[in-house]
Amino acid sequence: MPDATDSPTPDTPICSAKGCRADATWSVIWNNPKIHTPDREKVWVACDEHRDTLSEFLRIRSMFIRVDPLES
Ligand SMILES: [Zn+2]
Repeated sequence: MPDATDSPTPDTPICSAKGCRADATWSVIWNNPKIHTPDREKVWVACDEHRDTLSEFLRIRSMFIRVDPLES
């Protein structure tokens, strides 16, 4: 069953923020220590607008690692 929230990765990554369809230009790296081993790195991609929003979401949950520019 196709899921609109989990479509195949297009050439241009789309921001991971809920409802945002903007091109992503940042990688937000995070790890949830409750479910991931410390060496595991999860990645969200974010547009300029949501880079800080997503980072802050993770930061207050102690899951934030870093933000990297998205290679393209
Ligand atoms: Zn966005």
